[in-house]
Amino acid sequence: MTKEVAPRETYLTRIRLPRPTSISHKVAAVLVLILLVAVSNVFVVRTILEEFHGVASTINVAGRLRYLSQQIALSTVTALNGWSPGKAAAEAEIHEYEVALESLMRGGRVHGFDVRTVAMDYYLELDVIRRDWAVFRKEIEDALAQPSDPSESLVSAVQLGKINEASGRMLMNAERLMQSMTVDAQRRQERALNATYLLLLVDVLVLAGVAVLVRRQVVWPLRTLAQQSRNLADGNYEVQVHYPYKDEIGVLAETFNYSAQRIGNLVGNIEQERRNLAQAEGMFRGLAENSVVGVYIAQDGRFHFANAKMAHMFGYTPEEMTGSVSVLDLVPEDDRLLVEMNVERRLRGDARGVHYERRARRRDGAIFDVEVFGSTMELNSRTATIGIMLDITERKKAETSMQLAAMVYAHSSEGMTITDANGFIVDVNPAFTKITGYPREEAVGRRISMLRSGRHDRAFYEDMWHALTTTGQWQGEIWNRRKSGELYAEWLTINTSYTPDGLVYRRIALFSDITQKKKTDELVWTQANFDTLTQLPNRLMFRDRLEQEIRKAHRAGLSMALMFIDLDRFKEVNDTLGHGVGDILLKQAALRLTNCVRESDTVARLGGDEFTMILGELSSEADAERIAQDVLNRLAEPFVLGEEIAYVSASVGITFYPQDGTEADDLLKNADQAMYAAKEEGRNRYHYFTPSMQEKAQMRRRLASDLHKAVTHRQLRVYYQPIVDLRTGKIRKAEALVRWQHPVRGLVSPADFIPIAEDTGQIVEIGNWVFYEAAQQLAKWRQVIPDFQISVNTSPAQYRKGRVGHESWFERVDNLDFPLGGIIVEITESLLLETTDAIKAQLQGLRDAGIKVSLDDFGTGYSSLSYLSRIDIDYLKIDRAFATGLSEGSENMVLYEAMIVMAHKLGIEVVAEGVETEEQRRLLEKMGCDYVQGFLFSRPIPAEQFEQFIHAEQQA
Ligand code: C2E
Ligand code: CA
Ligand code: CA
Repeated sequence: MTKEVAPRETYLTRIRLPRPTSISHKVAAVLVLILLVAVSNVFVVRTILEEFHGVASTINVAGRLRYLSQQIALSTVTALNGWSPGKAAAEAEIHEYEVALESLMRGGRVHGFDVRTVAMDYYLELDVIRRDWAVFRKEIEDALAQPSDPSESLVSAVQLGKINEASGRMLMNAERLMQSMTVDAQRRQERALNATYLLLLVDVLVLAGVAVLVRRQVVWPLRTLAQQSRNLADGNYEVQVHYPYKDEIGVLAETFNYSAQRIGNLVGNIEQERRNLAQAEGMFRGLAENSVVGVYIAQDGRFHFANAKMAHMFGYTPEEMTGSVSVLDLVPEDDRLLVEMNVERRLRGDARGVHYERRARRRDGAIFDVEVFGSTMELNSRTATIGIMLDITERKKAETSMQLAAMVYAHSSEGMTITDANGFIVDVNPAFTKITGYPREEAVGRRISMLRSGRHDRAFYEDMWHALTTTGQWQGEIWNRRKSGELYAEWLTINTSYTPDGLVYRRIALFSDITQKKKTDELVWTQANFDTLTQLPNRLMFRDRLEQEIRKAHRAGLSMALMFIDLDRFKEVNDTLGHGVGDILLKQAALRLTNCVRESDTVARLGGDEFTMILGELSSEADAERIAQDVLNRLAEPFVLGEEIAYVSASVGITFYPQDGTEADDLLKNADQAMYAAKEEGRNRYHYFTPSMQEKAQMRRRLASDLHKAVTHRQLRVYYQPIVDLRTGKIRKAEALVRWQHPVRGLVSPADFIPIAEDTGQIVEIGNWVFYEAAQQLAKWRQVIPDFQISVNTSPAQYRKGRVGHESWFERVDNLDFPLGGIIVEITESLLLETTDAIKAQLQGLRDAGIKVSLDDFGTGYSSLSYLSRIDIDYLKIDRAFATGLSEGSENMVLYEAMIVMAHKLGIEVVAEGVETEEQRRLLEKMGCDYVQGFLFSRPIPAEQFEQFIHAEQQA
């Protein structure tokens, strides 16, 4: 718009351009005209006056003629009468008469008058006068020529009569002349009057013409200009003045027209600009008000504008935002300095556009994440910030779980396949490649059916598809084909993800290779490598397995135990009760043995009453000892054989790979030897192949026998270790940890005696005691802190025979009069591994009673998140081994994060164990861990000390 305004020079030049006939010329012409009229007026009047002047002189002279004629007669008469001077007077008067007459005839000056020639006009009268004068003069001269004797001087009457007559004629003649002259003068006067009237008329006409001209050429145009100027001022920019001449007024008119047009354009532009501005503002408001993101304009730390979304995001109304709220009110205190610095930087102009993510503070104090896009602008000639703000809390959350999902996806040992709705592979994970042999590039884009083995019939796949289309899920065993062509069995779970409108978006398949297990199963049922009586692997199979386990242990770098079990006094049973009964006993013994071990372990029958056990992948030698003890216990139980009851026991020899030997034969020999040693020591016992181990075992045996007295002799103590709530920083839980005050050995760690108690079964008694002890303590502490909780450790052995959650537990607790919800029972993962229906029922019983369940030492064993869903648990305790290597950016950090997120997804709260440093606490808090426990806060301490601890905290 501005560019349409002509530069100043051009503007001025345009005004100067036309060179008109000057109006001053016209004015000059009019003045000259008026001057001419005036001059001609003077001239005409002067001519008239002059004529009158002549007429008056002439009449005067004519009057003189009349007078002189009479005077002459008189002077002559007197002279004749003897008055001598009369003659001279008459002669002078005659002369005078002659001059006067002459002047009338020829013009001239008489008596001071200019007399014009009138001979032509009055020649008749003059002619008469001249003739009569000649007569009169002669008469007079004759009269005067007579002597002047007074006696004789008497004038003859004749003479006198003649003079009288002549002078009479003279008088009459003069009178006649004057008469004519007077008539003539009157005529002239009339003419002069007429001329004067004419002159007046001409003057009037000329002046009228001038007036008309001035009116037309000056007044009207000026009036029109004035009128149009008023119109222009009133806002009519269309006005134009039409004036055809190129004089000053023409220039004025043209300039006016030009100005009007320019003003019109300018005003039009300004109005257009104003409309544009109003429209732009309208658009901005419309956009801002309906925007799904926060829009704001901030200046001097306050909001100049904030849209509804923005206000809503922070829990205010838009009016409050622009009224009472300051920008810093929306910033968490810790971040204020940073924000202030940023604002300063922006105002300095260091950063025009900004884009950042930061934390924001809602009216209620809640902190959330926002993303801000901002830029600076001019507002009331000062710098302001205009920006858009997005609440990205959800996005952040989604990002985290995406990352974790991606991590799980990449690191899982289970194969994963993602296909689209038509069964085309979209993505696979590394485990997929490991199992199927297809690299990702080869798999993506192909149909999942490429893995089909041909081992299943149509009906199988139809069932699968039916399940998928109706429920979106399928789970089961399926045979597929690897890239190498080899068939393999997998345990497959398929889930479906849907688009928002309910269409299939992706199918996600998870599978693990179960070929080995399948094969094993098949062998069991198909080959004759099994003992027909007990269905246990026979010697051949045992050898095979032993070698296999050795290889496995070698690969995994783990140890493995081999046990040789020989029944004591079996021969007696056989001999007395017969082979048939003996066979039944063997069958039962085989079953009992199998129940002592995990599914992956092998129990074999070498022949007669000789059995072996291969315990693969042992993490501790104590595990073997526990199993050996279990075997002894089980086999010592009475055998019901039809109507008979038989008691047998067993002698067990134990040897370890690779400590005692690396070859299968050697190991078998070792175990056999050790078994004989057990027999020699008196049977119903186990014996190690290595002497030092044997010693340790003996020491443990002694501890075990001392432990019998521990409960009855009140040697056990319960210590408490605080568990801190990370949200509040307060202690609201404690873990009960048992201690044994041994009369000789001093304070014995539970790590040393709990495994023994578990082996001997004393754990049940100890466990119950700890439970009641903790329950009593809890009742007491709850009076101070009503929501206090104590977690109690439980061993799997306590559940095996349904000894946990027994009515009596609850009965005793009922007596204490406090909700069972205050108790948390800690279980180990191994319990979940062997979850039988009975154990599940027990755990369910605990939960039904309001007791919470916590999974202890998570991350050390199988750490399968899928176990978590097998049974409802409330807390997950992440083993302290993870805390050791926890630092910013470490792998443990990632693992913690994964475990925490997964647990939270399942609605489980997380306790991190073994927190020893502030750094660890901080990182755990950052990752969203719920509780922490560790030496950082306190070691396990006696109840009285714990009370002081709590008390101190309460005071703080
Ligand atoms: P746990 O259940 O994992 O108990 C936590 C152990 O970690 C305790 O050892 C505790 O002293 C230790 N601990 C706690 N904070 C830290 C720390 O910051 N750093 C380190 N290095 N260690 C920390 P404690 O008391 O020796 O107990 C050993 C284990 O004995 C327990 O491990 C638990 O499995 C078992 N246990 C203890 N009391 C009982 C009980 O009453 N019944 C049963 N069945 N087992 C028990
Ligand atoms: Ca524990
Ligand atoms: Ca633990």
